Amino acid sequence: MYKTLFGPVASRRLGRSLGVDLVPYKVCSYNCIYCQLGETTDLTIDRKTYQPTRLIYNEIMDFLKTSDSSRETDIISLAGSGEPTLAKNCGQVIRWIRDITPIPMAVLTNGSMLWREEVREDLISADIVLPSIDAVTDEVFQRINRPAPALSIEKILDGIEKFSKIFNGRLFPEVMVIEGFNDHDGEIKKIIQYLRKLNPDRVHLNVVERPGTDKDVKSPRADRMKEIASMFPMEIPVDIVGKSPHIFTPGDRKNIEEKILSHLARRPAVPGDLAAGLGVSPEVITNALGELVKQDKIIETPDRTDNYYYLKRRLS
Ligand code: SF4
Repeated sequence: MYKTLFGPVASRRLGRSLGVDLVPYKVCSYNCIYCQLGETTDLTIDRKTYQPTRLIYNEIMDFLKTSDSSRETDIISLAGSGEPTLAKNCGQVIRWIRDITPIPMAVLTNGSMLWREEVREDLISADIVLPSIDAVTDEVFQRINRPAPALSIEKILDGIEKFSKIFNGRLFPEVMVIEGFNDHDGEIKKIIQYLRKLNPDRVHLNVVERPGTDKDVKSPRADRMKEIASMFPMEIPVDIVGKSPHIFTPGDRKNIEEKILSHLARRPAVPGDLAAGLGVSPEVITNALGELVKQDKIIETPDRTDNYYYLKRRLS
């Protein structure tokens, strides 16, 4: 039984994810109304080392060496019992993990600490960063995220934007859409205007799946979610994150690879088309494409706007 690791679990956005939990329950800079972990008991912006770095390192090494599941892990994620960037050692942990395994590294963060330069530097080595941006106006921010008093929305948005300018990995901002809070056209338009500045790789529109700290919180109906997604400009790919998590078994993985090959036998495609067509998360598609490239079955060809994938024998 590990103290700092959990999973791999089926993540709706990332595939099979090994979680690394750097902070104890429930240390966070927000107390979101939709939080499925319950009320924040330590609402703080103070950074501390909560778990010894050596312990995390040993547990990850042990998992990679001894667990059969490590072969089926799509991604290692800093996530868990609170806000991972409140852990002072998160940068060191990210760099270590990058050094010891080729499995990509993601950070699920509320983004509230990125106004600090040291936090931006800590996250710079991650492969994927998924910051939450549920609001851009102070009133909506206070109602949804109920932040620590020292935080302001201006400071946070400025920090996330600064990070987006220096980060070379993939940026997947997430917007949790909540009925009656941030689902009206006014706030959504302002969120989109802000997201344009980040030049994100994809935006995830998330929906409340289980009761949060406020039991009455719910997401809009599916048709309104589609309307909201359609408000995004072409240059920002957007996914509505589905309600049902899917457990990926080795059989599922094989099945997805076969479906990709069958699709590419008919025409080349970009990852977004494949994700939409096969109804799985973009991350699962990206990992399957990487595997097929390694197996020399397909070829990746950068185009003006995206990477196209071709079946190898079609080109030869
Ligand atoms: S930022 Fe995440 S962990 Fe913190 S309260 Fe919000 S949902 Fe919960």
